[in-house]
Amino acid sequence: MLDLAVRDAEGMGFSVRAFDGYACDITLGDGADPVAVLGHLDVVPAGDGWTVDPFEPTEKDGKIYGRGTNDDKGPALASLFAMRAIRDAGIPLKRSIRMILGCDEESGWEDMAYYSRKEALPETGFSPDASFPLINTEKGMIHLAFSAPAAEEGLMILEMKTGDRLNVIPGESTAVLVGGRELEERVRAAAEALHFPIRTEWTAKGKLSVTTVGIPGHSAYPEGKRNAIGMMLILLRELGAAGPIAVLADAVGLESDGKSLGCSCRDEESGALTCNMGILHLKDGRWSGTLDFRCPVTADLEKLRDTAIAHLPGMDVETLEMKPAHHVPADSKLVRSLLAAYEEETGLEGKPMATGGGTYAKVLKQGVAFGALFPDEQDLAHQADEYETIDRLMLAAKIYANALIRLAAE
Ligand SMILES: [Zn+2]
Repeated sequence: MLDLAVRDAEGMGFSVRAFDGYACDITLGDGADPVAVLGHLDVVPAGDGWTVDPFEPTEKDGKIYGRGTNDDKGPALASLFAMRAIRDAGIPLKRSIRMILGCDEESGWEDMAYYSRKEALPETGFSPDASFPLINTEKGMIHLAFSAPAAEEGLMILEMKTGDRLNVIPGESTAVLVGGRELEERVRAAAEALHFPIRTEWTAKGKLSVTTVGIPGHSAYPEGKRNAIGMMLILLRELGAAGPIAVLADAVGLESDGKSLGCSCRDEESGALTCNMGILHLKDGRWSGTLDFRCPVTADLEKLRDTAIAHLPGMDVETLEMKPAHHVPADSKLVRSLLAAYEEETGLEGKPMATGGGTYAKVLKQGVAFGALFPDEQDLAHQADEYETIDRLMLAAKIYANALIRLAAE
């Protein structure tokens, strides 16, 4: 993907540098203090529930379907075309424009770490990797990995492997239980009482595979989603599972606000804390999984982490990552210029927002997330049948061109 981007950008006549498989940068103009545009070319796994091939772009009804169309290749491409339009129009630039495309945004951001060791990062800019009008507040992030030995009593669970990524709300969760016909009846009755859609299948004599069906999505945006692991935990607790399963069902279950972990909080600037269990596996008699917290700007991350751990008795908990929140003042030139571009191109009101989604914006001293999802559009990032509307992508390209002119040419 990175090689392809390098070739395409070179083909468009830009000066392009590749950084050893981690990232590339594409520059327009030679002025100092470059305006950064930070996008990413990596994607999360396809997951379940697609009606088209996730890795074969499909155009239908003015939309282009495929994993990454909206997060983040489409918006990155719209920004690149904005740069090309500025160049083709011959607009003189005082500052250069530097697009940096990384390949590790969905995991550990090794790309930006590598890039910043080789090259000084620009001071200001935006990442087209979220929503319009503009996000100037990104919540803090805590990623925890937990593990515990499986209970020796209660319901017999043979296998479970759900989730690839801690930042995804899993749409399906499957566990293999040990029992007879009577078990299947109990599972069905419990699921019905809980109003959980499930599927069951006998995979071998005495082995019942049970799948809970939730609503997948991005872990930072749990509203309207339903975590299939949370459903599975509650179902298993109902069926008599003990030990770590009961602890997790009680402390997390289907909550996405961290309430029973003692972590629920909010502030005016950023809204409420969110929490997601993206992974839960049972292997060699040990449960392991992850929790992904997105925390308000004013929250104390260490305190929240310690509180969560205190609510997970019997678990070994490891801190994978803690990223502080990021905030750029609404009256900064950057925010004012971008919002003016948005207002001029759309006729809509531009107001800065907060998000739980972390974007590359926070690697810049003054970085914000800017588009490309419009306020009336459904967020399909990390979901099945992800698409980008072509008209909207064109409008985004115009907004980006307008914004880059304001920042680099004026
Ligand atoms: Zn993204």
